[in-house]
Amino acid sequence: MSFDWLIFDLDDTLFDFNAAESHALNSLLSALGHDPVSDVLQKYHDINRVVWAEYERGGLTAEQVKVGRFERLFSELGINEDASFWSNQYLDFLSRGSELFEGAKECLVSLSGLAQMGIITNGLSRVQKPRLMKAGIDGYFSFLVISEQAKSAKPHEDIFKIAHGHTHFVDKEKVLMIGDRLETDVKGANDFGFKSCWLNASQQENTTEIKPDMEIQKLSDLLRLYQ
Ligand SMILES: [Mg+2]
Repeated sequence: MSFDWLIFDLDDTLFDFNAAESHALNSLLSALGHDPVSDVLQKYHDINRVVWAEYERGGLTAEQVKVGRFERLFSELGINEDASFWSNQYLDFLSRGSELFEGAKECLVSLSGLAQMGIITNGLSRVQKPRLMKAGIDGYFSFLVISEQAKSAKPHEDIFKIAHGHTHFVDKEKVLMIGDRLETDVKGANDFGFKSCWLNASQQENTTEIKPDMEIQKLSDLLRLYQ
């Protein structure tokens, strides 16, 4: 089966988000005069995961995510600083983090002659756009739909509707959504009617009820669709 359109998730699919987040947080802690120790990084990762999950359920706005995670972190660390100010500093650091997974760019180069490509990302506009440009991959994609701008996040159908519009409403069966998360990328695509591909790089067991149409371990496995 081949697809006319491939829609990619960004973080932990094309971009190594852990690397970007760790670098940004280290820079932030240094600027705050705080030692960038690993337990602080872990604390932040945990808080960030919780606030993004709340956002994806519709319980928080993007603005509340941005500042709320630092309010929580500063409160846990006993740091008496303006969370809103430091959130802005952090986003500047994060927007510079454009480490792609090994082979991701080569894969996009190969796929670009075979299908049209787009992106749906749950993320912040001022972070995601500069990262795409800095990584030098923005030219491969016909569209970039960012949840903050769309005012809807995966798995909600509204963000998929916007992406579908960018494909000029091609037959949904001709669109494959590729992403690392079952609960957002795969569920969203399944519910909307796109085909879904779970990028399961670490070969996790699927303990959910969510069934991807395809599963791959690395992006280059997508090339097999066009052989
Ligand atoms: Mg992801």
